[in-house]
Amino acid sequence: MIDLKLIAQAADKLRDSAFTTAFTGAGISVESGIPSFRGENGLWNKYDPKTLELDYFYAHPKESWEVIVKIFYDFFEESKPNKAHFALSKLEQEGKLQAIITQNIDNLHQEAGNKTVYEFHGNSKTLICTACHHKYHHAIIHLDVVPVLCPDCSGLIKPDFTFFGEAIPIDAYKNSVEAAKQSKVMLIVGTTGEVYPAAEMPVIAKENGACIIEINPHPTNLTHSVSDIFLKGKASEIMGLLLDKLDMDIL
Ligand code: NAD
Ligand code: ZN
Repeated sequence: MIDLKLIAQAADKLRDSAFTTAFTGAGISVESGIPSFRGENGLWNKYDPKTLELDYFYAHPKESWEVIVKIFYDFFEESKPNKAHFALSKLEQEGKLQAIITQNIDNLHQEAGNKTVYEFHGNSKTLICTACHHKYHHAIIHLDVVPVLCPDCSGLIKPDFTFFGEAIPIDAYKNSVEAAKQSKVMLIVGTTGEVYPAAEMPVIAKENGACIIEINPHPTNLTHSVSDIFLKGKASEIMGLLLDKLDMDIL
C-alpha cells in the first residue's frame, strides 16, 4: 500500500528544492525489461559475478565475453526508457532536477532526454581496445565471435564500463561528488546501495544537508541509515505519483 502522505511530503521537498539530484541504479530499468544484478530474478542468480572482475576478464576473455554478450548486448538494444526515466527527464526540463548520477550503463536516461547525466560506471554502448585504446560504438563491432578483438591491432576489446576491481571514470566521479555536495534533495531510485564508491554519493549529500528521498519496492542498506523519506513501490508508479502532485505530465 503506497503511503500518499509520504508522497505529498516528498513532492513538497522537491518543489522547494533549489538543487536536486537523482541517484539511480539497476532497479529503475527493471520495468524496461533489464534485470538487476541482485534481488529476485537478479542476474547473479544465473551468472557468476567473477565474469565481470577485471583480472578474471584478462585471464579468461572468452568465458567473460560469452556472459557479457548475454547480459548486456543480447537484449539491451531493444530496451526503451520507462515512465520513471521520462519522469526524471520532465523534472530536468522543468528546472527541478539538476543532475542524474547513475550506476547504470544502459544509456536509458539519455534516451529519455536527460542532458546532465554522470555515468559512474561508464556506458555499455562504447567498447575500448585494451591495447591501442581506440574506442568503438558497439554497433560497428561484431559480437558473435568472442573474445572480441580490435579490427586495427587485434588487441582485446573490453566494454567501456567499469568492471569490479577497476577505477571509476575520474570526471564522472568528480562531477558526482560535486553534485552530491550541492544537493538540497537527492532522489535515490532503484539501488541496493551495495556497490562502492557509488553508494557514498547519498552519504555525501546527506552530510551536506540534503533531504534524501528513496524509492524502492524493498528496504535497502540506505533506507534506515541515510534516507529521510522512504517511498515503497516501483519506480514508475512512485515517480508517476510524485509528478502528479507537482502538476507535471510525464512526456
Ligand atoms: P542491484 O541489482 O544491486 O539492485 C537493484 C535494486 O533495484 C534492488 O534494491 C531492488 O529492490 C530494486 N528494484 C527492483 N525493481 C524495481 C523497480 N521496479 N523500481 C525500483 N526499484 C526496483 O542494482 P544496483 O544497486 O544498481 O547495483 C548493481 C550494479 O549493477 C550497478 O553498479 C550497475 O552498474 C550495474 N547494473 C546495471 C544495469 C543497467 O544498466 N540497467 C543492470 C544490472 C546491473
Ligand atoms: Zn586496438
